[in-house]
Amino acid sequence: MQTEKLPRARDQKEEYSRSDELRAVELPPEEPFRAYALQLKDALVAEDRKAILVASRLLLYALSDFYEVKRPVVKILSVRPQETSGEWIFQTFGDYDPGTLLIRLFMKTAVQKKTSSYGTFLSTLVHEFCHHLDVVSLELPNTFHTRGFFERVAILYHHIQNTPVKEIVWQKFSDGTYGVNWAKTMERSGNK
Ligand SMILES: [Zn+2]
Repeated sequence: MQTEKLPRARDQKEEYSRSDELRAVELPPEEPFRAYALQLKDALVAEDRKAILVASRLLLYALSDFYEVKRPVVKILSVRPQETSGEWIFQTFGDYDPGTLLIRLFMKTAVQKKTSSYGTFLSTLVHEFCHHLDVVSLELPNTFHTRGFFERVAILYHHIQNTPVKEIVWQKFSDGTYGVNWAKTMERSGNK
């Protein structure tokens, strides 16, 4: 989890810092979201693509209705695309197209083609929904990956999953981006 570089254009810089400073998000009621999340969990365990789609849609549509935004289009695809850049291998867990409001979620890992874990899948679903929310509701059309963005995702994700939110401790890199200091983040949440 690392933030994007600060953009150069002035209006984008302004948008970036607005997103960075926005560290909270209004939370929906616990239900039906937690029930839908458990339905998603069962569907993933059963590796049932149709059921995964149904549960993902229930969650994403209910979230959209709660935030009073347009519902995204939802697609569940099979194997995560993989890209290699130098020594690094990147997998796409999901993505969002602001033009078509399409959220795509991949249900299988790239190499072993195993069905994603519940935590990974749900966090990707919430991540892509937060891109949608940025674009259609928060006037953040570039939906940058800022500290604020990641924190909003984490708050909403843990709320839906019914797990405690860890306060993220960020560390700044020399290029001005931030990454999570996992050691300090775990220490602060009491998981020593
Ligand atoms: Zn993203």
